[in-house]
Amino acid sequence: MELDFVLSKEEKGPAGKTKLIYDLVIIGGGPAGMTAVVYAARKKINTLLISKDLGGQVLWTTEVENYMGYQYIEGSQLMNKFKEQVRQFPIDQEIGEEIEKLDKEEKTFSLLTRTGKKFRAKTVVIASRKRSRPLNVPGEKRLIGRRVSYCSICDAPFFEGKEVAVIGAGNSAFEAALDLVKIASKIYLVDIAATWKADPILVEQIEKEKKKVTFFPAHRIKEIEGKGKLEGITIENLNRKETKHLSVEGEKDYGIIFFGIPGGYEFNSLVSSIIDVSRGAADLSPESKDKIGKINKPLHIQVFVTLTCPYCPGAVQMAHKLALESEYITSDMVESAEFPHLTNKYRVMGVPKVIINEKFGFEGALPESAFLDEVIKASR
Ligand SMILES: Cc1cc2nc3c(=O)[nH]c(=O)nc-3n(C[C@H](O)[C@H](O)[C@H](O)COP(=O)(O)OP(=O)(O)OC[C@H]3O[C@@H](n4cnc5c(N)ncnc54)[C@H](O)[C@@H]3O)c2cc1C
Repeated sequence: MELDFVLSKEEKGPAGKTKLIYDLVIIGGGPAGMTAVVYAARKKINTLLISKDLGGQVLWTTEVENYMGYQYIEGSQLMNKFKEQVRQFPIDQEIGEEIEKLDKEEKTFSLLTRTGKKFRAKTVVIASRKRSRPLNVPGEKRLIGRRVSYCSICDAPFFEGKEVAVIGAGNSAFEAALDLVKIASKIYLVDIAATWKADPILVEQIEKEKKKVTFFPAHRIKEIEGKGKLEGITIENLNRKETKHLSVEGEKDYGIIFFGIPGGYEFNSLVSSIIDVSRGAADLSPESKDKIGKINKPLHIQVFVTLTCPYCPGAVQMAHKLALESEYITSDMVESAEFPHLTNKYRVMGVPKVIINEKFGFEGALPESAFLDEVIKASR
């Protein structure tokens, strides 16, 4: 079979046809792969970079604080700097390609991508990452880089004064807990195993920190929760089948937003929301709290207001209280004059006008129970 290789350096094939071969193929365009490119290119090594993306895992994080020369830099910004450095060199690149097969032939390697492209190289650098093992529980993927972390050395400083859960029972988990013990306010060590598997020396060190560390052996993680950022985890006792919520990380995003400056009458809703958010609780009736607890689908409430409307703050405060109470509800105040495209889109003729999940909700200021009933109707 004649292989259609994509190559750059000449080599005579058996049939007298010209075949080409790279000195070096680098697999992976994360920090390691891009660094390898720079070193190879500076030595004028005939190089090809093949990667699914350019930037790697660093693109998943918002904050990097341990890269020398930058006190703080966003992951994507740092990777843009890496890319600029790579771009200086005229090396071949196949970005968006994934290597599916790598074979050693006599003196060369053959590489096959998922889309069927074939390459050959004298040397291959594999920089395709050490993969962290996910828990595969609901919420995990969504909150990676939003305080769900797989690297305590990288991220421990972000948890200063916070409550942190470390999942695992072996050496890595215990080392992570030791990294965190001087920084976090509390550590929960959770694992499905009934006994700890870490080396005795690590177990001894952690036991000295008993005041700060709470152990949850024989527990599994059921869910990782948080709207914009990690807020808590639900764990289940494997013997008793009881679940428990652990509030971790501490900062909570209640999903409350003011679109437009809340001046005029709307100053009231701003102040009242600041008070509610700082208390972390909304003064709703027990009946309303019961009904809200049964909501299990995302609901986005938009309250359109004008600054001269005396009835609008009541509607805004009510929507924000619901968002404060429920994990599933987010709430926006929208100042109609400042967002005419939204006002037109939702045909706002009178205020307050409440839109729920992009559809018409209702118009006018309603008392708590009637407001909540309308929201619940929209959730069906
Ligand atoms: C959320 C998060 C936050 C982090 N924060 C920090 C931090 O603050 N400080 C810090 O020092 N570290 C941090 N890290 C760790 C850091 O991102 C990694 O250590 C670093 O990215 C490893 O670089 P790498 O090039 O080895 O691998 P990666 O960055 O994983 O890059 C691997 C590359 O290989 C490609 N690839 C994989 N398989 C194939 C294939 N078959 N074919 C082609 N291409 C392939 C991938 O697409 C990717 O481009 C963080 C990691 C995460 C996930």
